[in-house]
Amino acid sequence: MRDDAASHRHPTVQFPPSLWAQTAPPRDVAPAATGTIETDIAIIGAGFTGLSAAIEAARRGHSVTVLEAQAVGWGASGRNNGQVIPVLTAAEPDAWVARYGDAGKRVVDLIGNSADTLFDLVREFGIDAEAEQTGWFQPAHSPGRVALSRKRVEAWQRYGFPAQLMSAEDSAGMLGSDFWYGGMFNPTGGHINPLALARGMARAAEGLGVTIHETSPVDSYRREGAAWVLRTDRATVKARAMILATNAYTGEVKPRLAPRIARSLIPVLSWQMSTEPLGDNLRGRILPGRQAVSDTRGDLRFFRYDARNRLITGGAVIGPHDVAGRVQRKAARSLAEAFPELGTPTMTHVWSGYIGMNWDRFPRVHQIGPDGWAWAACNGRGVAFGTAMGRELARAVTGTDPRELALPATDPQPFPIQGVLRHIAPAYLAWLKRKDLSEPKS
Ligand SMILES: Cc1cc2nc3c(=O)[nH]c(=O)nc-3n(C[C@H](O)[C@H](O)[C@H](O)COP(=O)(O)OP(=O)(O)OC[C@H]3O[C@@H](n4cnc5c(N)ncnc54)[C@H](O)[C@@H]3O)c2cc1C
Repeated sequence: MRDDAASHRHPTVQFPPSLWAQTAPPRDVAPAATGTIETDIAIIGAGFTGLSAAIEAARRGHSVTVLEAQAVGWGASGRNNGQVIPVLTAAEPDAWVARYGDAGKRVVDLIGNSADTLFDLVREFGIDAEAEQTGWFQPAHSPGRVALSRKRVEAWQRYGFPAQLMSAEDSAGMLGSDFWYGGMFNPTGGHINPLALARGMARAAEGLGVTIHETSPVDSYRREGAAWVLRTDRATVKARAMILATNAYTGEVKPRLAPRIARSLIPVLSWQMSTEPLGDNLRGRILPGRQAVSDTRGDLRFFRYDARNRLITGGAVIGPHDVAGRVQRKAARSLAEAFPELGTPTMTHVWSGYIGMNWDRFPRVHQIGPDGWAWAACNGRGVAFGTAMGRELARAVTGTDPRELALPATDPQPFPIQGVLRHIAPAYLAWLKRKDLSEPKS
């Protein structure tokens, strides 16, 4: 692993100045697509979704070409907190089944298994991604939230997944802090270095014969006869099947690529940051079991260790003035509040990326034509889910019976004033903060 200041500067692609860009094993950017390319399956976007789909489709014997606008892991997949979480933010298991019946039940299985899906992939391909399957903990920030944790635990257990309710005492022991009141623990979760994972997945895909073209933004796709035809400024790609894996970045690179999908989500900027490595003494007292942690607040508090014992945390603030400075101070204060022995930590790296949000916080799957699929709106939980969903989309275009798939397809529902909403989205945080202060109605 490298840890030098220059490694996030690539000759052709500028990565955000994240800790991950400094510490992930380097990757040479693959040549851009040129000329006419014929492939069985074309995939747009090289994040966890696109790469996981590529691996699965190649494994099933298909030729696969991935077209990435910038570089592998340049989008949310290379910028996130790296928490591998087999639970979504708001879409609960019973609600999936109520909405989508059997397909909803299959989505619940996909979500519940998603952390194992990711860690199994890491193990299978020997990916050097600093993976730690130490579990994921959602501590409750108020006594009333413990009742919600209990409901969630019961629901996941009913569907056969190993969620556990932690008492206030268990929680204090796990975290090294009595700032929280208990909560839900999921032993299959954990954390990874996300850019290292994306690059490792790309290498695994290439090892299976997948061609990845970077610096190749797709301008358009359309159905011509029995084929999908994708165009970049220098190439035409003809494919039997297509997977659009651009998620929150769908409208950021080429606004006209898939405007209905782009406008069906609000890209919200989320900030991430890392502390200096903690010394052994603090490390042994704060979060000694190295779990990934994100609490029950809407204005989320979250943290996990990286491989060098830095705490990786983050947050959001309202208003445009000095955002990076304010968000750092806020996150440092939050850590100090929960772990007074830490003092107020200095942040060494600060970066941000877009999360695709929608109104009800249910991710959406879209069938965009024959053998053409997409999903979008992770609502902040797409590391494990995107990896699992990519695999599912690959199954859809390689002959799996649709009745076996966790793909409840719906039409995109664009927000009527999405352009305005994305600018006022940070105000949503004010509402979440207010909600965090009151107890939920049971
Ligand atoms: C700051 C932050 C923190 C997060 N923390 C967590 C977390 O801890 N745990 C968790 O579960 N989730 C987290 N998430 C969400 C998670 O990172 C995403 O849901 C997930 O990475 C989405 O993966 P993806 O492959 O679908 O999309 P992305 O990784 O965003 O990939 C989309 C790719 O498409 C490319 N692209 C876009 N347009 C084009 C085009 N026209 N042509 C070609 N390529 C194109 C982009 O360049 C990009 O590389 C976080 C997200 C952010 C931003």
